[in-house]
Amino acid sequence: MAVRTLLKKGDEVMVLSGKDRGRRGKIQRVLAGEGKVIVEGLNLAKKHARPTKTNPQGGVIDKALPLPAGKVMLVCQGCNKPTRIRREEAVDGTWVRVCRRCGRTID
Ligand SMILES: [Zn+2]
Repeated sequence: MAVRTLLKKGDEVMVLSGKDRGRRGKIQRVLAGEGKVIVEGLNLAKKHARPTKTNPQGGVIDKALPLPAGKVMLVCQGCNKPTRIRREEAVDGTWVRVCRRCGRTID
């Protein structure tokens, strides 16, 4: 079953648990089907890379691994804190995300 997430690419999130707990980063990619997100520079793992055209040396690189969406929380740009969000229908019928803490529309 697909996990529903309100997170989007480009969102700033804070990690809630694990080795990167308390660290912030921007979402690079949302894996909606798996309910996971890839956050720039977080949850890194050493990967051995074969030499390629862009990286002729090959060797060890840091690669960001997906984190479960439930392990990160969106950082509201209004209150500058990790916050829960809710979905609200705007006057024009579109859905917007709203910070539960300060009521600010996020997007
Ligand atoms: Zn807020």
